[in-house]
Amino acid sequence: MTDFHSLGLARPILLALDSAEYSTPTPIQAQAIPLVLEGRDLLGIAQTGTGKTAAFSLPMIDRLLATNIRPSPRGTRGLVLAPTRELADQIATNIRKYAAKARMNVNVVIGGVPIGRQIRMMSRGLDILVATPGRLIDLYDRRALHFDDLEFFVLDEADQMMDLGFIHALKRIASLLPKDRQSLFFSATMPKEIADLAASFLTDPAQVAVTPAATTVERVSQAVAHVPAGRKPAVLGDILSTDEVTRAIVFTRTKRGADRVSRTLEEKGIAAVAIHGNKSQGQRQKALAGFSSGRLKVLVATDIAARGIDIGGVSHVVNYEMPDVPETYVHRIGRTARAGASGQAISLVSADERGQLRAIERLTKQALDVMSGFEPQPGEEVEPRRGNGGRGRGQSRPNGGNARDGKPQGNRSRGGEARGKRFSADNESGFGGRSRKSSEVGRPNRRPRQAEGERAGR
Ligand code: AMP
Repeated sequence: MTDFHSLGLARPILLALDSAEYSTPTPIQAQAIPLVLEGRDLLGIAQTGTGKTAAFSLPMIDRLLATNIRPSPRGTRGLVLAPTRELADQIATNIRKYAAKARMNVNVVIGGVPIGRQIRMMSRGLDILVATPGRLIDLYDRRALHFDDLEFFVLDEADQMMDLGFIHALKRIASLLPKDRQSLFFSATMPKEIADLAASFLTDPAQVAVTPAATTVERVSQAVAHVPAGRKPAVLGDILSTDEVTRAIVFTRTKRGADRVSRTLEEKGIAAVAIHGNKSQGQRQKALAGFSSGRLKVLVATDIAARGIDIGGVSHVVNYEMPDVPETYVHRIGRTARAGASGQAISLVSADERGQLRAIERLTKQALDVMSGFEPQPGEEVEPRRGNGGRGRGQSRPNGGNARDGKPQGNRSRGGEARGKRFSADNESGFGGRSRKSSEVGRPNRRPRQAEGERAGR
């Protein structure tokens, strides 16, 4: 098996990796590092959680160590662009860790914080700067930084950059950078517009790709609870109160929704905090620190705010509201089961979100286990009209006598007995059941069984 020593990295980097207790490169690292050390430009298709930060940072540090040129005032030798402030901070933290034995000056410029300190910080020049595009251009236009010393450039999360409307900023940055440099470009997806953007940054790039976004993380067990919208706050409270949930991220679609959910949880005595784009940088950092330290059990987040955040030990991801874009589901559930751990994802799906659920199941080629016990009561929620007929499930089905045991249909059918307590610790499958892969449980089992129940209830 490849180890970091055989990849050809310089000694100070290997020492830092020993301290970080990284023994084996991840696939993206094993593929990318030798190519970058050769001096190639690189196009990487990979998402967060694959180890891509080290895949670009380690060889960048190595290359900068090799040239060992002093940066001039306001210059930087390495530049990493990231779409969000949190991601920029996180990348810088990792680079500092990897460069700890390499005596490098690493710093960050992000929006939402006073610019004066950043102008002063740049005046001495840096080895590596991590930046969000808007603030970088702002500093350039104020002549607080220049790119004359630039040797190494990384653009991370290009697809997220596009989503956030950074295309013009990126084109401008591409026009400002010196031609004689090495460039790396990473994106989780590679539609044509992103490939075109990549072409404007890269020269004869090597390409590496790991785990396409459409395959959900293997170690995440996934389940769905069909819950009427009005009952979601109560169900979420029940789920998050159990002991199995040690650290959870709850996703909402809107900023207001995130605030509302975190307030509701606080009222129920569950320590929660919301992060989204309307929060100040200070508030976001404080929230993330509280969550990382374990002081807050639950982080309620919108997709953009949570993108790229890497906090270990997340036991559960709850989709309080289903995302419109099915790939977003894959990104969300990737927040748990990081770095070899396992995790659980639970989606609360109301009648009007079933289309999104079907799109997710098509994308992931997986039918998700259904947790029973949450179905609407008669008249509680009306199934929206759908043209396609087919796979819809009745909404007015009365609950069977033992339907509130909080277990997936699959498990119930095996065990048979009812358990009064939801999410009981002795539940063999943990949290309403570990979802088994559809290949193990036999996909057709689920839908027809559900459909039978539906008919019987009518
Ligand atoms: P990333 O995809 O860069 O966000 O990395 C995901 C997580 O994996 C981070 O917490 C890294 O610190 C960790 N990580 C990256 N590479 C390795 C490795 N080779 N061994 C162990 N952990 C790693």
